[in-house]
Amino acid sequence: MKGLMQDWPLLCHKIIDHADIYHGDREIVSRSVEGPIHRTNYRAIGERARQVAKRLELDGIKFGDRVATMAWNTWRHMEAWYGILGLGAVYHTLNPRLFPDQIAWIMNDAEDRLLFVDLTFLPLVEAIADKVPSLEKIIVLTDAAHMPETKLKNAVPYEEWASEVDNDFAWNEFDENSAAGMCYTSGTTGDPKGVVYSHRSNVLHAMAVAQPDMLNLSSRDRMMPVVPLFHANGWSTAFVCPMVGASMILPGAGMDGQSIYQMLTEERVTMTAAVPTVWLMLLQHLQDIDGALPDLENVVIGGSACPRAITQTFQDKYGVRVMHAWGMTEMSPLGTVCSIKPEYAHLAGEEKLDLQAKQGHPPFTVEMKITDDDNNALPWDGETFGRLKVRGPAVSSAYYKGHGAEHFDAENWFDTGDVAHVDALGYMEITDRAKDVIKSGGEWISSIELENLAVSHDDVAEAAVIGIAHPKWDERPLLVIIRKEGSTPTKESILEFMSGKIAKWWMPDDVAFVDEIPHTATGKIQKTVLREQFKDYSFPGT
Ligand code: AMP
Repeated sequence: MKGLMQDWPLLCHKIIDHADIYHGDREIVSRSVEGPIHRTNYRAIGERARQVAKRLELDGIKFGDRVATMAWNTWRHMEAWYGILGLGAVYHTLNPRLFPDQIAWIMNDAEDRLLFVDLTFLPLVEAIADKVPSLEKIIVLTDAAHMPETKLKNAVPYEEWASEVDNDFAWNEFDENSAAGMCYTSGTTGDPKGVVYSHRSNVLHAMAVAQPDMLNLSSRDRMMPVVPLFHANGWSTAFVCPMVGASMILPGAGMDGQSIYQMLTEERVTMTAAVPTVWLMLLQHLQDIDGALPDLENVVIGGSACPRAITQTFQDKYGVRVMHAWGMTEMSPLGTVCSIKPEYAHLAGEEKLDLQAKQGHPPFTVEMKITDDDNNALPWDGETFGRLKVRGPAVSSAYYKGHGAEHFDAENWFDTGDVAHVDALGYMEITDRAKDVIKSGGEWISSIELENLAVSHDDVAEAAVIGIAHPKWDERPLLVIIRKEGSTPTKESILEFMSGKIAKWWMPDDVAFVDEIPHTATGKIQKTVLREQFKDYSFPGT
């Protein structure tokens, strides 16, 4: 017997329709790339998106065609985003922080036909456009008055391009499993891999994100996604905010501490989201100016592990609740949020901070397990760590063109490449990336745990731990450190500090002091490069 409910395809553009009808006047405030603050609302975004869809159609863009964006978070990016979706084309967000050749490679792999680009990135596009034969037109997200001279043949200003048509356009309807968007993984090894979101996965994922134990977002919020739309599906902010009718405060190109502080305070932001590096900058700025955050209630921190000191400062000094979150491009991206279940409500002080250092528990739609190398499930005791695997309706089933098939198994489990333990209540804590974990004498040592301990030393600015080949133990940890300016820690003082705080056999065999630790375009430590730098290193006495 079949259910007798309607088949109402879960299409992303229904989200902007909902926002237009029920939250039409809600403000979308952007710092424009040209400078001034710009104000609009969901009703206007919806109308403009229809105009964009109609104009794209005039350019010959069809269902399933890829349309790239290389842009900051602004209202124009939102208009383009929904215009692409409502036509049935596929948005493809490009990360401008990647190497130019890598961007060209990605655009060719996706066969992007059009590109929406911000003024900031025009020189970058000028450098690579000739290498992307599929690219027919470049729409610069500005107006004619601000359009610079460019050697690009097919570059047009967005405002004038869009105004060639009106907004009388009916959204296309199609199967909810159709591709909606693409985002390539940052790829610390090998070529980047294309993740392809569907309309259905984006809608279900946004519904999961909004839940009270996840971001708990509502029409009463003024949300500022500092995380750019080009990182991991923009952490779903372009979907979840209009879905619940939250105001959007969009920081544009202003990513420094002062600009972010200005938007947070002047626009009375209640929730914001970004990677830890952004929050370090903001906290430094707050300290410099002796500032306060009277309206901000929640800050979402993810992308890499949130240092305890950030959580403590936000909560104790500024009265802002920290939501530590974990996710991946392949998961749309949300996997877990560390919200507090009633069983843990009594925790306070250090114990609460211990809990908040964990990445948290998943929403409905994310299944999770940890396994050993032979795929045997491991216990959820909060200690035993293993490979973290996930599945669900907003988790990739494959990469574009079938690359990286080894990450998926026959039962649809996706191997995240993270190593984690899980406690009895389902709270997950990442202990490493699978390729970074140090395998010593058949046991695993968590490089992240050693790094966290090392950076809690007053004289350490940044730390990275890598495994170095060892004749007896297979691998042993080498601790690489950047000293804080003006301090002179020694190997002995660091090791003495760490001693007694971790198992004896976890202690690094040596400490190397460096001026720089390499990072990827998304701010993660690039251990492949570090391992390459230390490839000729051997431990004293081996
Ligand atoms: P990306 O797809 O570029 O967002 O990278 C996803 C990876 O970032 C995950 O597999 C983790 O290794 C890492 N990551 C994301 N959030 C966290 C977090 N809260 N703590 C530790 N690692 C994280």
